[in-house]
Amino acid sequence: MNKSRPNNGVTEFEALKLWNEYPDHWKDMWLNNAYCMKCKGTSLKPGYNVLMGSSGTYVLIEGNCAQCGGVATRTCD
Ligand SMILES: [Zn+2]
Repeated sequence: MNKSRPNNGVTEFEALKLWNEYPDHWKDMWLNNAYCMKCKGTSLKPGYNVLMGSSGTYVLIEGNCAQCGGVATRTCD
C-alpha cells in the first residue's frame, strides 16, 4: 500500500500540522489555484482534505471542484 496517497476522506495529522504553519494568504492562493481534471476549474469547495506529499516536505490538498464537483487537487510547495 502506497502511504503517500491515502484514501479519500483522510486528513493526515502530520500534513495538517504542516498546513497550519503556512500563512493564510498562501493557503488562499493554493485553494484558488487547484486543478480539476474534469472541467479545469481552479477553485475548491470548502471541506478539502490535507494530505502529506510523497517526500514529506509539502502537503497536497484534495477536494471537490466548486464548478463541477469533480476531484481537484493542488500540491503546496
Ligand atoms: Zn470541475
